[in-house]
Amino acid sequence: MSQLRVWFASSEVAPFAKTGGLADVAGSLPKALKKLNVDIRVVMPKYSQIDPSWVSKMEFVGSCQVELSWRKQYCGIYKLDYDGVTYYFIDNEFYFFREWYYGLGDDGERFSFFCKAVLEVLPLIGFQPDIIHLNDWQTGMVSLLLDAHYRHREGGFYKRIHTLFTIHNLKYQGVFPKSVLSDLLGLDWKYFHLNGVEYYDQVNFLKAALSYSAMISTVSRTYAEEIKYDFFGENLQDILRRRSADLIGIVNGIDYEHNDPKTDPRLYAHFDAQDLTGKYENKRRLQQELGLMVKEDVPVVSFISRLVDQKGLDLIEYMLHEMMDLGIQFVVLGSGEWRYEEMFRQAQARYPGRVSANIKYDGVLAQRIYAGSDMFLMPSLYEPCGLSQIFSMRYGTVPIVRETGGLKDTVIPYNVSTKEGTGFSFANYNAHEMKDALARAIEVYKNKEEWESLVRRCMKQDFTWESSAREYKDLYNDMLKRFNA
Ligand code: ADP
Repeated sequence: MSQLRVWFASSEVAPFAKTGGLADVAGSLPKALKKLNVDIRVVMPKYSQIDPSWVSKMEFVGSCQVELSWRKQYCGIYKLDYDGVTYYFIDNEFYFFREWYYGLGDDGERFSFFCKAVLEVLPLIGFQPDIIHLNDWQTGMVSLLLDAHYRHREGGFYKRIHTLFTIHNLKYQGVFPKSVLSDLLGLDWKYFHLNGVEYYDQVNFLKAALSYSAMISTVSRTYAEEIKYDFFGENLQDILRRRSADLIGIVNGIDYEHNDPKTDPRLYAHFDAQDLTGKYENKRRLQQELGLMVKEDVPVVSFISRLVDQKGLDLIEYMLHEMMDLGIQFVVLGSGEWRYEEMFRQAQARYPGRVSANIKYDGVLAQRIYAGSDMFLMPSLYEPCGLSQIFSMRYGTVPIVRETGGLKDTVIPYNVSTKEGTGFSFANYNAHEMKDALARAIEVYKNKEEWESLVRRCMKQDFTWESSAREYKDLYNDMLKRFNA
């Protein structure tokens, strides 16, 4: 069988541009697929935020014009080989030289351009993929554009290309005024209906992807089931139910090389599952750096996240004082909604030496907190996969999670009788249940030997990309069998 060719499109890819978990995935899954002998190439916008040290290494490949209805826009293509993978960057300074990645008032136009460019540049770079793997709403129009404008072009270049769309978070959908359809994408109004792109009289990019992609995946098995229900479906549950035969869940992994407590240069001290001495050193230094009381036997509970409703912050708000009464220290790193930022600032003022509120985005501090804490709290309302609980286990910090989405799939509830499991969990979105899970964790924490064996078990879990990348490869192959038959 000839080598599988995949064109992987994402609006964010680490280490070039990152605002959340999507970038982590786009920066590590292609590398794992490459190791499985897939000819995968990644395409993303050439944002002004990309560090000049990367830009100076890029090679100009060529340029073409992208038609957005009556507009003809310049599209430059740059290329960079990094870590065994080839990355392509779509250049247009009008669209991508901006202060921030999103939310600039014309995202509908910016990502219409990106979706068209993803298809337009392929003949130019001489790459004819079997599969285009799309990620989140910013790439949502590619499948429909492929069917409407490209598939039947003379020469048959696009004829046998099939699309897989991965949902990383259903909440963010890219909804724009309906004029986008004809005025930018140059698409016929026949696609503007309930089973097409129409969404409350607007155009929805994510819905377009769900309607027109050959296959759909999401980032955990449980989330793949949950989103078919009204509670999790974000008003797209009907179409997800309709397409349930083409929808699968594949859990995310993390990059074990760049996130290794034995070598991570961001840590105060190194450690592994055999020797936890370095972990205690990280805890001591973290307490010092953050102005907490330096106490080895007090459990340090941490929370690293975007401060948005999804992450279960109202439970923490309701239960914060009772949680503090359990005798913990609490470390927060995050930014987002003002009311939650303020809640943590006030908690720090009320509990000096016991609460540390770090209201910012800080990749180095994040790593030090994963390594220096005892427990990691993640009481999410919903969680497509979640990477933070995986990072925390990798660094020997025991997760306390709500049983939803990927949290349910990656954390095994601790059983006090058999001493099996990797964390503490609760089922209902209820503040008392969250506190109860924390209290159970603290009970086990009091027995040092039992706790350390739990810590070691967390560290030995395998969340590398290897097996999930294999599942993606199998899925690509199945798609070819099914759609090229
Ligand atoms: P989501 O994608 O919903 O934000 P994930 O758990 O999948 O949640 O991924 C979050 C990623 O962002 C993790 O790598 C986490 O460490 C990182 N992160 C979140 N908030 C911060 C912050 N304030 N500073 C540094 N890293 C952060």
